Amino acid sequence: MTKQQTPSLFRSILRGYAWIIILLTAGASAVVFTTFRSAFRERAMEDLTRSAYALVPMVQNRIASSEFITLDSLVNTAALKMDTRITIISRDGSVLADSEEDPDCMENHRTRVEVIAAFNGISGNSIRFSKTLGREMLYAAVPVVLEDSIVSVVRTSLFFDSYSAAMRPIVKEMFFIMLITMAIAVLSGWVISRNIAKPMSNLADVADRVRRGELGARAAPGHSREHNSLASSLNETLAKNEELIRDLSRSNSRSRAILLSMIEGVAVVSKEAVVLLLNDSFRELFNIRNSEREVPSEVLTLFQQPDVSPDGIIKYENKTVAYSQALVEGSGDFVFSFRDITKEVQLSDMKRNFVTNVSHELRTPLTAVKGYAETLKEEIHGEAGKYLDVILRNTDRLIALVTDIQTLSEVESTADFLHIESFPITEVFDTVMPLFTARSKEKNIPISLVQAKAHITVNADRYRIEQVFVNLIDNALKYTDSGSIEVRASTKGDQAVFAVSDSGCGIPPEAMPRVFERFFVVDRSRSRKMGGTGLGLAITKHIIEAHGGTISVSSTAGQGSIFLFTLPVGNS
Ligand code: ADP
Repeated sequence: MTKQQTPSLFRSILRGYAWIIILLTAGASAVVFTTFRSAFRERAMEDLTRSAYALVPMVQNRIASSEFITLDSLVNTAALKMDTRITIISRDGSVLADSEEDPDCMENHRTRVEVIAAFNGISGNSIRFSKTLGREMLYAAVPVVLEDSIVSVVRTSLFFDSYSAAMRPIVKEMFFIMLITMAIAVLSGWVISRNIAKPMSNLADVADRVRRGELGARAAPGHSREHNSLASSLNETLAKNEELIRDLSRSNSRSRAILLSMIEGVAVVSKEAVVLLLNDSFRELFNIRNSEREVPSEVLTLFQQPDVSPDGIIKYENKTVAYSQALVEGSGDFVFSFRDITKEVQLSDMKRNFVTNVSHELRTPLTAVKGYAETLKEEIHGEAGKYLDVILRNTDRLIALVTDIQTLSEVESTADFLHIESFPITEVFDTVMPLFTARSKEKNIPISLVQAKAHITVNADRYRIEQVFVNLIDNALKYTDSGSIEVRASTKGDQAVFAVSDSGCGIPPEAMPRVFERFFVVDRSRSRKMGGTGLGLAITKHIIEAHGGTISVSSTAGQGSIFLFTLPVGNS
């Protein structure tokens, strides 16, 4: 139903009220009128009966003296006086006299209801509707008794409408009173309807003003408790809403300002990949000046990916752009932020290339120095030989450092530095474990290998995993003075789990979070003495994570350390 078709509350109440009044008044009028009419009719019948009784003595006399002829003049005179029709009916039903018609032409009246009653000794009456005249007639008949027997019947009759003509002014007056009553009732209905509907329409008006944006609109108090409580609840809700909307719009403007002023390019995208908002930095980053339709296909593809990773890197023209993505709770929209990392990538490439080149360039002369120093060592003894030992030790340190730096820059240089294959891990142990046999014996620290399963296969780069085990076992030996070392291999789901534990000096708790950092060493002099570079664990962590595994350490200072890492299980 449209708004125009829906009647107002005022109209509805008034219409219902008017109908009730009209129906009640009409009903009451009908009841009063019928009651009045039947009382009138009863009265008329009583009058008729009384008139008939009044005639009885005269008729009695005439019949007793057999003056039947005079009956005619009697009924005519009496009818005129009484303004009724009078009929005298003999015992056999024939009409003896009638004030209106010739008795000889009238049919037998014996069967008339009122006449039957009168011949039975009681007054009878009847109301009949004359179809020919279209009028209602009232009849009253009383017996005329002579010497204990009913000799005749006097019947009086009249047209009820002519009798009830007297009722007309009363009915008119009644009708007029009814009309006035109805008008007053409708008028008071109008006032009542207005009083009921007005507060409602005031409230509706307030709601409409709020809908049109007038947040400060409030409902005025009314004259009823209900209206006042409704108005105050509405006002309270409106005040809260106003506060909320103002808060929201403030935080919205704040977010917008933040978004627009951000250096990062930001795009808000719906879950259907429709671009909802782009900030200036985004447009600048992807060379969009005019319309959102020009969002580059590389970025659109990213928006459309159903399982896009939370962060990553995309290439756009000659730029490298890092992105991160987050879901806006509740709305299902996504916020993507983009940062141009081209310069950072170039810089880190340059740094890596430099490191690789320098370490490569250093390695050749260092190897030469080492070679010559070793040759000289064979020739020279005594004090000079000690100096040569120092030269050899430092050359070894330098070579180790250069090698580690080179390895680190290798594993960091490309994401695909790994040559993944599926192989049994025992093959790695077969290569790595013998490297430590001599040192383990020399330090009297046995290295045990425990394999939970006979054939543990891993999906990994064989050479890099060897490097991992060499680094970890080498550290275990370096930082353990007594006790033992254990290398343990097992599987958990689709992961192979390895642990290298020792009973060495352990790592103090404050140093634990930093052991995988480059160049971090707990005890610099000990590490130097052991020929450490501070790069072994950084390389190890990088290799493990590049395989999709994780590495962690747990340690108690003075009691030993456990390095735990995982690798993906291979096809056996
Ligand atoms: P480094 O070449 O000095 O051993 P790493 O990166 O391999 O360098 O190790 C970093 C530091 O972590 C070491 O200097 C040492 O202090 C500590 N560390 C590594 N492994 C162990 C271990 N098994 N026990 C005690 N400390 C360790």
